[in-house]
Amino acid sequence: MVEYPEPKVVVSQCLGFKKCRYNGQTIPDDFVEKLGDFVNYTTVCPEEEIGLGTPRDPLRIGKKDDEIRMVQPATGKDVTKKMQKFTASFLEGLDQIDGFLMKNRSPSCGINDVKVYHHLDQPTGSDRGEGFFGGQLAEYFPGTAIEDEGRLKNYKIREHFLIKLFTNARFRKINQKQQMKDLVKFHSNHKYLFLAYNEEAMRACGSIVANHEQHSAAQVFSNYREKMHEILAKPPKYTAIINTLHHIFGGVSDNLSQDEKQFFLNSVEEYRDERIPLSTLNHMLKSYAIRFDNDYLKNQVFLEPYPRDLVEITDSGKGRNH
Ligand code: SF4
Repeated sequence: MVEYPEPKVVVSQCLGFKKCRYNGQTIPDDFVEKLGDFVNYTTVCPEEEIGLGTPRDPLRIGKKDDEIRMVQPATGKDVTKKMQKFTASFLEGLDQIDGFLMKNRSPSCGINDVKVYHHLDQPTGSDRGEGFFGGQLAEYFPGTAIEDEGRLKNYKIREHFLIKLFTNARFRKINQKQQMKDLVKFHSNHKYLFLAYNEEAMRACGSIVANHEQHSAAQVFSNYREKMHEILAKPPKYTAIINTLHHIFGGVSDNLSQDEKQFFLNSVEEYRDERIPLSTLNHMLKSYAIRFDNDYLKNQVFLEPYPRDLVEITDSGKGRNH
């Protein structure tokens, strides 16, 4: 069966952990709370960390002399350097993180939907850009699952985030000992998941594991991680998911009756039409794996890539990226 080691996640502190917003409030979030049962959170509030106190006057970011700066208009403070220094020292001090869950639109924590004024002194026009802290995460931790709580309301984005998060945690676990047999098993268990995401890169991962060049284990794990990050960089296309479903089904269908076969194939079409979620089909495939005692299939991460309790009942498959 699929294992779910506890992912290590850095989370914005105001998302239900402490009243640290500029106005002395907190913003509890159902998903952040639910995820907390399965992950190990490290909380952070960059604005409190640089000594601004709570409550405080709000910050703003914008251009000044061709540079993006962070200021507190009400007090005239320019905290650009302080925030950059804190961000670098905090992120350099972190070890082995699987993901980040940030508050959206915050000039500090926001990842990519932050108001950046064209002119700091005349706040009329603005674009969307990165927060001072949130914008640095991908650079320090490439390949980690990075999202904000606003985007995670979308089912497809949330699913991709969870898949990436738990896959990173599983890899982190085997990377501690760097035993080749563990990597062989990891690759075997993730075969169908990676097939759905990116077939070409999945096959490249297979070559890395085969290690015909006889690299050291450390080198093989490093090469594999880099390729795995490439695989998980973007959510899979639903057409590739359907191909994967057919591929898996082909391996068990010989043992099924004609009616059972037709029922599954009709269900795939219902998934294609967004009338049922992927989890329903995966559940059916899992039941075949149990019924035919197919260990290879039982261990496939594709069928249950993250804990079942995190699969929303309202999972409708809507909002998928075509
Ligand atoms: S968004 Fe970030 S900086 Fe702002 S209150 Fe929340 S944790 Fe603190």
